[in-house]
Amino acid sequence: MSDKSLRQGRLEGKVALITGAASGIGKATALLFSLEGARIAVADIDGTRSRQVADEICSSGGSAVAYGLDVTNEQDWQCVVSDLLKKWTQLDILVNNAGISFAKPVTEMTLEEWRKVTAVNLDAVFLGTRMACNTMTAGGAIVNVASASGIKASPGASAYCASKAAIRMFSKAVALECAAAGKNIRINTVSPGAVMTPMWESMEFWQQMKGEAGADQAYRALSEGVPLKRMAIADEVARAILYLASDESSYVTGADLVVERVYRSIAEGSGR
Ligand code: NAD
Repeated sequence: MSDKSLRQGRLEGKVALITGAASGIGKATALLFSLEGARIAVADIDGTRSRQVADEICSSGGSAVAYGLDVTNEQDWQCVVSDLLKKWTQLDILVNNAGISFAKPVTEMTLEEWRKVTAVNLDAVFLGTRMACNTMTAGGAIVNVASASGIKASPGASAYCASKAAIRMFSKAVALECAAAGKNIRINTVSPGAVMTPMWESMEFWQQMKGEAGADQAYRALSEGVPLKRMAIADEVARAILYLASDESSYVTGADLVVERVYRSIAEGSGR
């Protein structure tokens, strides 16, 4: 969890719903938002781990509620939001963070695989954003987690890259739509580069790189492809999300905050 000395009450009085909050970037965001004074709805397809994160927040003196939410399921969204509004009567912040990685050459990809990636990474962002735009009648902030892979393509990751690029443009368009309608809802994206989270353990190429070169060498090879020559930790992305979710970014909408650029695609960086 973030250093408590950094706490400045940036989210005091706010209610935040964070998807994919049982792990990695989503979990770091939930813990940081709580430190900043928000009440947190910890939502993840893994309801047991959502509960653990919510318990961690509550035992540190924060307020949190856990939900088992499959972000691709429209009915799940309705149940979660209606329960949340009953409990806390408001929703101020939505972080659409849940996502899955997937790598396979397009020639081998099934339609089912394509649809699974785009359902979790993109359709769910639509469902969440639409829900929030209809719910945040007093205004709010939506932060959608895209990826540097939505800016710089990686061979073998077309479904992931396409889904993440689409999040960025979807968010910009809806940001303009809300502004034109006079709604006080800001919508921005964060595009992380390479962040050391459990997601990496599910990536075949990463397992292969570690198996061939050893973990340290694999990490170094990967780090060569990013400006700061290291991978981020989840908390560094959480702090970027915090900025866009808080009133500190009150004049920022339709923006994409890149944390950090990947100037060589991950597959190129690995020498594949
Ligand atoms: P992670 O695997 O640690 O966490 C993702 C969480 O999403 C998990 O808890 C998982 O259970 C949940 N999830 C998956 N499918 C879901 C569904 N259908 N409904 C609800 N929850 C679901 O991964 P992470 O690295 O923390 O990734 C978070 C976000 O950041 C993702 O959108 C990912 O694409 C993006 N991202 C990650 C990196 C990186 O290097 N780790 C880089 C760029 C973007």
